[in-house]
Amino acid sequence: MSEHRSFPKPTPRVEDRTAKRRDVANAWLECRAFVDQRDRYRCRVCQRQTMRTLTLCAERAEHHHIVGRRIAPQLRLDVRNILHCCGGCHSKLTRHELYVEGRAEDMFTSDGRRFWNADYPLHFKPAESATFRCVTTYSVTQPYG
Ligand SMILES: [Zn+2]
Repeated sequence: MSEHRSFPKPTPRVEDRTAKRRDVANAWLECRAFVDQRDRYRCRVCQRQTMRTLTLCAERAEHHHIVGRRIAPQLRLDVRNILHCCGGCHSKLTRHELYVEGRAEDMFTSDGRRFWNADYPLHFKPAESATFRCVTTYSVTQPYG
């Protein structure tokens, strides 16, 4: 008899991990669906109608985190931090060739920092003409990558 075995038998760790991964995937799908509806399947930057495809083309429907997932992990599934955009504009946003700007009064606060709110109108400016950058994005103490 194995007296030291715990009862009931613990869930195998692989099952825990699989369940957690499934929850995260579902939460992302839900979040993405909300953003798609809110933005009416149009790129927030160039207004073009996007299409859902696996092909890497400029019209491809993609989603951009205004503040990167690593910089603000708590906003990873926050629709206020996510934009519906086309593949073309997404790559410009990712390469910081375009900057997001909005009205200061529309910003929201999370963990004591202020962020642009995608629920409100935003505009996008080429990097060289941006009037200021969201300083929270470039905080010195935060790892950036
Ligand atoms: Zn676009």
